[in-house]
Amino acid sequence: MNASNATEARALPTTMRAGRILAPNRVDVATVPLPVVGPDDVLVRVARAGICGTDIHILEGDYELARFPLIPGHEFAGTIVAVGANVRLHGVGDRVTADPNLPCGRCPECQRGAVNQCHDLAVVGVSRDGAFAEYVAVPERVVVDIGDLSFAEGAMVEPVACVAWGLKRLRLEPGSRALLFGAGPMGCQLVQALKGAGASAVVVVDVAPSRLAMARRLGADLALLPDELPAARDLAPLGFELVVDATGVPAVIEGALAHARPGGTLWVFGVAPGDARVKFSPYEMFRRDLSIVGSFAINQTVPAAVSMVRSGAIDVAPLVSHVLDIERFEEGLEIALHDPDRMKVQFSFGEDGA
Ligand SMILES: [Zn+2]
Ligand SMILES: [Zn+2]
Repeated sequence: MNASNATEARALPTTMRAGRILAPNRVDVATVPLPVVGPDDVLVRVARAGICGTDIHILEGDYELARFPLIPGHEFAGTIVAVGANVRLHGVGDRVTADPNLPCGRCPECQRGAVNQCHDLAVVGVSRDGAFAEYVAVPERVVVDIGDLSFAEGAMVEPVACVAWGLKRLRLEPGSRALLFGAGPMGCQLVQALKGAGASAVVVVDVAPSRLAMARRLGADLALLPDELPAARDLAPLGFELVVDATGVPAVIEGALAHARPGGTLWVFGVAPGDARVKFSPYEMFRRDLSIVGSFAINQTVPAAVSMVRSGAIDVAPLVSHVLDIERFEEGLEIALHDPDRMKVQFSFGEDGA
């Protein structure tokens, strides 16, 4: 940590380029003022920022925490270029990422340590401006050093931290066989996380052959198209101890429980639309000792995520399929929305992000 007395490394511009969502399904790239840096904040020059499924929900006007107009972007990495007067542990030049979730610290959920359930949760890139811009300001308390990780990897720490929080919620039974729906960027992180956490086999299902190939490369024992699913029965004739949804598709979630072994668990990881409903048989839940575990966002798991990426426990570099300059903001969103083969789409900003 190179805590510096200087508040700025060099003269900063007064304006920056930013991708914005003005209202649902209305976007632009504009020149806007630099964010205000409060006394407890650091200003980060963004090198890379990734598009997440949440950004797509925000774009489509389907995310309750979102406020418009908004500069989205909550998965990012970059370099600190200025610090507020009260900042002590970070300095100009530090290579960092951040936990985008800003819990209030005072409500009953925060007081019991469930900061992701905060009653007054602010989220960088969701309820306040985020990192699809050349600069983003965040409180020092959520900043985490990325050391020698590349910025591309650093911008993947946030999703890995969501996986890490889910793993803590899940308390995986060692030797479990897992059936995982969805081989996108999250699914391909989950494959690695589950194998590392003691799963004896992970079977992945997706509709995109290119994604299945990536899941195989990153450790999936079987990677199947939906109509090939019966082949998974050889691996787990009595059903799977763990079934994971990383698609957020209600029909997939509804069908998933049928693959669980008695005593098994369904982990709801994907983000379904807020108004979606699925049908389960309560009798089946009762009769077969089934459990459902949800996990939302991050609860103090960003440092663990940095360790997991640095150690190679979760290899994220192959998951970045597209890197676009922020001027191509709309095109990046289009790729994230419509290209079935895309994995993580990241925006870059100047030389650092190249
Ligand atoms: Zn995200
Ligand atoms: Zn709170």
